[in-house]
Amino acid sequence: MSARALEVLAVVPVKSLNRSKQRLASALGTRREAFVRALLAQTLFALAGSERVSGILVVTADPEVAEEARRAGARVLLEDADLNTACAHGLAEARSLQIDLCMIIHADLALLSPRGVDALIRGYVERRVQLESAIGLVRCKEGTGTNAVLLDPRTAFVPAFGPDSFQAHQRAVGSRAVELHSDEAAFDVDTASDLQALARFSISARLRPFIVARASEPDPTSLIGVPLESLVARASHLRDEGHGALVSYSRKVFLPLTRLCRDVCHYCTFAKTPRHAGQPFMSVDEAVTTAAAAAKLGCKEALFTLGDRPEARYAVARAWLADSGFASTLHYLAQVAAAVRDRTGLLPHINAGCMSAEEIALLRPVSASMGLMLESTSERLCLKGGPHFGSPDKQPAPRLATIAEAGRQRVPFTTGILIGIGETRAERVDSLLAIGKLHERYGHIQEVIIQNFLPKPGTRMAKAMAPSVDELVWTVAVARLLLGPYMSIQVPPNLNSGVLARLLQAGLNDWGGVSPLTPDYVNPEAPWPEIERLREETAAAGRILAERLTIYPSYAQAPEQWLDAAMRRSVLELSDGAGGAREEAWRAGRSIELPRSALSRRRVRSSHLTTVLRELSEGSVQDLGVDEIAALFGAREHDFAAVCEAADDLRAQTVGNVATYVLNRNINYTNICSYHCSFCAFSKGTRKHEGAERPYRMDLEEITGRVREARARGATEVCLQGGIHPSFTGETYLDILRAIKQAEPQMHVHAFSPLEVWHGASTLGLSLSAFLGLLRNEGLGSLPGTAAEILDDGVREVLCPDKISTSQWLEVIETAHNVGLRTTATIMFGHVDDYRAWARHLLSLRDLQRRTGGLTEFVPLAFVANEAPLYKRGRARPGPTLREAVLMHAVARLVFHPHIPHIQASWVKMGRSGMRAALRAGADDLGGTLMNESITRAAGATHGQEMTSEEMHLLAGSLGRILVQRTTLYAPATSEARASTDRLINTTGVQSWPQAFMTPPSAGSMAPAPSSTPTEAKCC
Ligand code: SF4
Repeated sequence: MSARALEVLAVVPVKSLNRSKQRLASALGTRREAFVRALLAQTLFALAGSERVSGILVVTADPEVAEEARRAGARVLLEDADLNTACAHGLAEARSLQIDLCMIIHADLALLSPRGVDALIRGYVERRVQLESAIGLVRCKEGTGTNAVLLDPRTAFVPAFGPDSFQAHQRAVGSRAVELHSDEAAFDVDTASDLQALARFSISARLRPFIVARASEPDPTSLIGVPLESLVARASHLRDEGHGALVSYSRKVFLPLTRLCRDVCHYCTFAKTPRHAGQPFMSVDEAVTTAAAAAKLGCKEALFTLGDRPEARYAVARAWLADSGFASTLHYLAQVAAAVRDRTGLLPHINAGCMSAEEIALLRPVSASMGLMLESTSERLCLKGGPHFGSPDKQPAPRLATIAEAGRQRVPFTTGILIGIGETRAERVDSLLAIGKLHERYGHIQEVIIQNFLPKPGTRMAKAMAPSVDELVWTVAVARLLLGPYMSIQVPPNLNSGVLARLLQAGLNDWGGVSPLTPDYVNPEAPWPEIERLREETAAAGRILAERLTIYPSYAQAPEQWLDAAMRRSVLELSDGAGGAREEAWRAGRSIELPRSALSRRRVRSSHLTTVLRELSEGSVQDLGVDEIAALFGAREHDFAAVCEAADDLRAQTVGNVATYVLNRNINYTNICSYHCSFCAFSKGTRKHEGAERPYRMDLEEITGRVREARARGATEVCLQGGIHPSFTGETYLDILRAIKQAEPQMHVHAFSPLEVWHGASTLGLSLSAFLGLLRNEGLGSLPGTAAEILDDGVREVLCPDKISTSQWLEVIETAHNVGLRTTATIMFGHVDDYRAWARHLLSLRDLQRRTGGLTEFVPLAFVANEAPLYKRGRARPGPTLREAVLMHAVARLVFHPHIPHIQASWVKMGRSGMRAALRAGADDLGGTLMNESITRAAGATHGQEMTSEEMHLLAGSLGRILVQRTTLYAPATSEARASTDRLINTTGVQSWPQAFMTPPSAGSMAPAPSSTPTEAKCC
């Protein structure tokens, strides 16, 4: 039964907004209803984005809930019923619609994502294959309640939601109950501590504003009289909580599309009259040429700033637009922004003044974010004598309306206030609160700029006083206190040369856009600081400068919510695994040289990571959790160096100065595959003839011929795996194995991915244990732990929806260990995943290894994107950055120590220079010579098909390592190798052949291999 063919209805019962989540009243106060609405919107978004849910039915009596539901594309059943009755009505509706599968799900699941929903449904469908009448139950995180029920709506079921509902449902359903595990669906939000716990996750931007400890929040008006030092200390602490040591900036180019403006702000030198403006509009070519030059300098943002609606004031603007065939300035802007995006790859950020709903909709497909400074909510400033007199677009109401409409249309939005133009402190607080309120409603405010007025010659306010530094510091601190730890607070560095350290103390975390090419056209008298100087000044304050995109990370990581489909490819192309900017152009599988700046190891103040690392090295932390591991992947500069050094120390403790490799040959016996992994450029359907590789299948003669050749060249291992050919059964794999062992009995056969094992067992109707036992008895030496990709079902839903699930992969590997076969383990990373998914992957492997001890090594496989279909369709990042790729080796060493002794660096993915970086960051093994590498080559890698042992010797020698040829199971491969290694060991201070090479890990319950099994242990 295919899950895709099923009609799935999600039934979501919702109480009224004002009655829900009463237990959050003390934590959220008047914001409780807004939070309930945001939770509902998040749940509905996840369901609507799921590929497996075909309809959503919200059962409610609340008209506001109904409106929210309809906006999300759900149907509404208006019912004033208790929870269980509402569910029963939903089920009845599903029956009458002849739906195949019904999922009753709560509306308060803050972590739920479309992929999580898909994974949940898939898990249920898999269980239903074994038990047709299965009723899937998802337990809440406390273990007592039920957060979701999945069932065939024709099945008899009486909902029993309420206290201890999980047990109640289990009792009522009896043997039909199957428990489904989903971290996302388990996390409901009922209490203040749930709210606090959310801070650990990368949650939707729309929920972020609510994760603030209300008790510590100040009364806004009381802030006005608080001593500055006290405000600054509190604000600084709060910023550290939300942003750690990172201070971000965006590398941008400034494109002033037009300097004509219908407004007349009294402090502005940007706007020009037609007499002084020259051409009324920048041409498309001019914009593209400037943006292309900026792209060469590493810029990623194209900031379009322009006057407000010049055609409303100037005939010359109207005539130019009419002659050029554009209805308005914003129509022209849409065309230029699209050209810049498509021809340079830069991400447009649009500052086009006040906009209507239609105009925002017009510009959303061509921009990654938009902005409009609120400036001030004070209407006083618009009166005669005020700086905004005569500027209709500076009225607070249309500005607030534009910001709200951007929220409704889910545009990541930048706003801010301008200080020192005659407003009072109370009015500043009011402006910041207005921004905060809009953010609570829509979750779209990605940053708040605190811009200080500077008097400019030639303006009406030329003689006005600029606000003092204290006033600016006060405003930054108050903004941080009012808007919470996670809001990005920005101050332009070019307007504040000499006081950056004070501003950092006051709680800012962002320097905004900085251009290495164009001036700040709004403040031309204030040049941008050079980025390197900004980095030095930031470092001097103990902080790390990190590049971001114009769209902030939490928005970039939820593209389905925050980006038009036309922008997603461009954003993914420039993003790293945390949604930040890729700071180097290194590409896995292709780059030869390392970018010089990529792995710089500056010395700045140590951060919380240093504490984690110290505790690890002291042995006071046994178990890193998801949060700590994900934070390690975010390490930069000093932190990066510290993580790599800690991993390198553990590597030296474990294996001494020895680096290893295996002389092997890859044999991929077919590239014909009936699976649909979206990342795979290797597989071909039987009828497909596209691309360089044609479909092929090797016969036994060819396979054994290749094995003999490998033996003749000294190989000790052949590594075999391939596509899942539609005609393959378990017998095929057994035949291949028998043929090889008959041809070369001494050859170690390292073969069959967990997917192939699963396929082989199921086609023969055998248990995994029985099939693996057969393979072992026919001479299989060990299994490659490939097909793991990312052990996170949400990510697998995108990468390989029809492949074995996380738990099935782990089951195959654990069963292999239990029958005496050892395996490797891999991760393929850098596509649609993130640091938390990587962390979960590592933890799954660590836990498995503790149980069995059967993993010989861990092999990070950086995603090679070029030919991967998922990447070519614009739905994946172009692989990890070099920083991330190196960190994967280092973090793996830290997490797995002492359970998995070997971390392999893949030359196919990392290249020779990348290998050196990985070997200095915890890796100790260079992998195989391979002879015929073809899977990564099909994905676009250019590092060749073979790396000779001579090249490996040179590489290891350049790092002062002793290179030793090993067997698959980490024994010295030959007596010569052993003798020469012993000699080398004696001359380099390592006392003996490291223990890690002698025996399988002692921990775990791995079964001893039967004596008849020709394992390579005898080589030790
Ligand atoms: S990764 Fe493997 S299973 Fe997936 S399509 Fe490619 S060859 Fe087939």
